[in-house]
Amino acid sequence: MLSTKDAIALENQYGAHNYHPLPVVLARGEGVYVWDPEGNRYFDFLSAYSAVNQGHCHPHIIDALKQQSETLTLTSRAFYNNVLGEFEKLVCDTFGFENVLPMNTGAEGVETAIKICRKWAYEKKGVPENEAKIVVCSNNFHGRTTTIISFSDDSNARDHFGPYTPGFVKVPYNDLQKLNEALQDETVAGFLVEPIQGEAGVNVPDDDYLRKAAELCGRHNVLLIADEIQTGIARTGSMLAVCGNCTCEGACERRADTYVRPDLLILGKALAGGVYPVSAVLADKEIMDVIKPGQHGSTFGGNPLGVRVAIAALEVVRDENLIQNARKLGSIFRSEMKKLQSECSLVATVRGKGLLNAVEINDSPDSSTAWDLCVKLKENGLLAKPTHGNIIRFAPPLVMTKEQLMECISIIRKTFLEWG
Ligand SMILES: *Cc1c(COP(=O)(O)O)cnc(C)c1O
Repeated sequence: MLSTKDAIALENQYGAHNYHPLPVVLARGEGVYVWDPEGNRYFDFLSAYSAVNQGHCHPHIIDALKQQSETLTLTSRAFYNNVLGEFEKLVCDTFGFENVLPMNTGAEGVETAIKICRKWAYEKKGVPENEAKIVVCSNNFHGRTTTIISFSDDSNARDHFGPYTPGFVKVPYNDLQKLNEALQDETVAGFLVEPIQGEAGVNVPDDDYLRKAAELCGRHNVLLIADEIQTGIARTGSMLAVCGNCTCEGACERRADTYVRPDLLILGKALAGGVYPVSAVLADKEIMDVIKPGQHGSTFGGNPLGVRVAIAALEVVRDENLIQNARKLGSIFRSEMKKLQSECSLVATVRGKGLLNAVEINDSPDSSTAWDLCVKLKENGLLAKPTHGNIIRFAPPLVMTKEQLMECISIIRKTFLEWG
């Protein structure tokens, strides 16, 4: 097996340098743990950006992968396959929509939602051809395609990749007044929003932001498009972040007082437990029906291997009560981090929901403090990654036990307190 040093050297020599990884090589994973080639064990506090909510190599998901991989993997959508319908019914029932369109990566899910929204604007809302606009938020992260980076305000993601796709209007996140102003334009077709901004540093909006945004969208006949690629599938202590404080396990009554219903819902990442790339856009028929045969698709979207894995991944969320566990461990984590904050001047703020949390470090976003702390955390057996300079996101797999979490908290405490 390649050593840590050799594996890093090979990636550095032959790989494009489009990432700046922490200097650790992962060779194996199981549940909340990963190991490097030398056999050192780490707690994974990134979970592949919340794709591995069900834990690494979950046996139920891997069984599904093994069985389906020996049976049928890819048919294309030129033919029906005998797994896709089962997946479609399960996700529609679980999330409360009439139809689903399966894709592969998250960015493809976002692109799909944008296309559906624009087509709906011309065919149902009556927006003049080529004039549809979609309102997006500042500091958004929705993926890496040329259209999606066109409405990013991260210069790293955007600069020198133009010309940019037109038709997007930006408003500040968590600002209902600015949203309301933008919605006065009758060519606005949709409002694309993350219920919590993960990449931007786990920005949690005001409690009533999404509900009021949904009301404004409804009043102006604008589609609310929720990107739950990172926040969905139990991560924030409910099946979807738009479920708010609902305590259901998925197929629930979705009480009006806790649930904000998007018109288009985008899922990815943990939808297939980090075992296979599966994304999906959900909507009711009235909206989804604008897409006719030949107008959108993907060779791999809805393939039997991916959707079989996704079915198993959703079963794990239900059978292992990951919603409740994320909620319970998340509140322990935040209260322990707030305790640390009172003892340690390094911690500026603690925020998050469920097991999607962040600690903002008391230093300039240009400093290397958060990075250096993550290197120390790694040396102490815990893997986390800074986002936006001085923010550390903490997002372990949702299968963590309370005992494991307490061990992790003591690693974080030790690392921060030793720093000074
Ligand atoms: C990760 C992510 C995406 C993009 O998903 P990919 O699978 O990397 O294309 C889009 N939106 C949000 C909110 C994400 O976290």
